Amino acid sequence: MENCIFCKIASGEIPSAALYEDDDFKVILDMGPAAKGHSLILPKQHAANIYEMPDELLKKAILLAKNTASAFSSSLNCDGVNVVQNNGEAAGQTVHHFHIHVIPRYAGDDSGLGWKPHELTEEDRKAVLQAVSGRILP
Ligand code: 5GP
Ligand code: ZN
Repeated sequence: MENCIFCKIASGEIPSAALYEDDDFKVILDMGPAAKGHSLILPKQHAANIYEMPDELLKKAILLAKNTASAFSSSLNCDGVNVVQNNGEAAGQTVHHFHIHVIPRYAGDDSGLGWKPHELTEEDRKAVLQAVSGRILP
């Protein structure tokens, strides 16, 4: 994809701080980390979001996220790890090349990750169950 910053980073056209690389992925340090070690798993093949990711590549991506989280857990002295993946601007996606954030967390850090919990209303509970039930493929 022309003009895609993550395609250029994944291919090596733009240099990055890479922690890992194989034929399909590069794992790089995020340039605006939420916490020390915040990294991004980038597929070398362009997909804008999770919906466009080929299933087999997506399976490899989530396994790589697990292995990256395990490496952080054993090497960075962190107290937890968030695995985050955003799709669409409303969900916070700013770079439209699929990526998984792997974010080491430290007790008391000020990463700002999280959400404000709302009440699950009876109306929403019914509406969502009715709209989605039977539509999630195994
Ligand atoms: P999103 O909001 O799309 O889920 O996450 C995009 C992430 O990419 C952000 O955390 C941002 O800091 C990071 N980012 C954007 N441009 C670059 C870049 O050129 N290099 C690196 N290393 N990270 C980037
Ligand atoms: Zn791309």
